[in-house]
Amino acid sequence: MYYRIRRIRQAGVILLTLPLLYSSIAASTTEIERGEKTVELRDITVTPSKAYATITFLLSGKASTVVIEKKGTNIAQVRMKSLKAEAKALNSALPKPGVLSVKAHIERTDVLVTDVRFSREVTSMSVIRRDSAQVVVKVSLGKDISGKSAEESNQSGKTDWKLSTIVIDAGHGGKDPGAIGIGGVQEKTITLAVAKKLRDELKAKMPGVKIVMTRDGDHFVELYKRGEIANRQNGRLFISIHCNSMPEKPHPAKGFECWILRPGKSDDAARVASRENGVIQYESNRKRYDTLDAEIAILGGLAQSASARYSEQLASEIRSSMQSKTPLKDRGIHQAGFYVLVGASMPAVLVELGYVSNEDDVKTLKSSAGQRKMAKALAEGIRNFEKVYAESLNVGK
Ligand SMILES: [Zn+2]
Repeated sequence: MYYRIRRIRQAGVILLTLPLLYSSIAASTTEIERGEKTVELRDITVTPSKAYATITFLLSGKASTVVIEKKGTNIAQVRMKSLKAEAKALNSALPKPGVLSVKAHIERTDVLVTDVRFSREVTSMSVIRRDSAQVVVKVSLGKDISGKSAEESNQSGKTDWKLSTIVIDAGHGGKDPGAIGIGGVQEKTITLAVAKKLRDELKAKMPGVKIVMTRDGDHFVELYKRGEIANRQNGRLFISIHCNSMPEKPHPAKGFECWILRPGKSDDAARVASRENGVIQYESNRKRYDTLDAEIAILGGLAQSASARYSEQLASEIRSSMQSKTPLKDRGIHQAGFYVLVGASMPAVLVELGYVSNEDDVKTLKSSAGQRKMAKALAEGIRNFEKVYAESLNVGK
């Protein structure tokens, strides 16, 4: 898997630089043409540069109508007619530095509307490429507005930055048991129990915040759908709950780990990533993950995105509260390319609560009291993160 990522990564760099070649081609700011054929959206990529950004739409054919428009101070809107798109393509844009959000949806059956919010002022827009495979829009950016007051920078979406919706993802489920531990305990059972307790804890401690569960029963949910659920529900924070395991049981390795999305670096990262990604053997269409591999590689090739920085912060808060509120040993913050975190364009963390293959850990993981402690620790970490998050974004409590 890692060889494949490296190979695709090189291709990814070529892909990213392509739009820049076309940046010198002048174009009108609005193009309208008539056409009948419906084309399909495959992917949206936003590539920020110093003074401008490119928004690239990969399509199955030539888009008949492309309308571009600046909305508010910092939103670039692109409308295309006779388009269709699946949820995965609509949610395909990944967080990038300077890009606050990318929201795409289909309006009036076949109009694709994409709003890209930048942390800087949008000064002008132009369509620099439109052919049978893609539409590339260049957005010129002005002064940074991320430090401005909420009124100025958040006119079109004041609640966007608040943790208005928290998505809890209980790992595995249904036909996928996850790791099997000492005494036959299944990872999926522990993750669901802790996820439910975390939900109850957050509901009590953070009233007004919407809590979304990717599953609330013992059923199977594909990895890509978990991120999709999070995006569709407008999630502002994503926490995926898992348990670790070693091949031999019992095994002395124990403790909790927090993982954030990056291409894996160590053998340890490769081991955990391949085990958690291994769940796709249960899914019918594995091909979709080929593009995710490429996206992981592309993301890894970039500087830290805004979401990645917040994900680190979130991981660090959860780590502190898990240290102080549970008997579990701290194994630190790690990075890996988890599919489940890729689809979610929001601060995201994957927590390995403990080892089901360890005699000490499994007691905490299995017991109701232990699960409650872990849920309380996760909730406290999220609440502490919310404070830091709100302060850093300067949008108040
Ligand atoms: Zn797992």
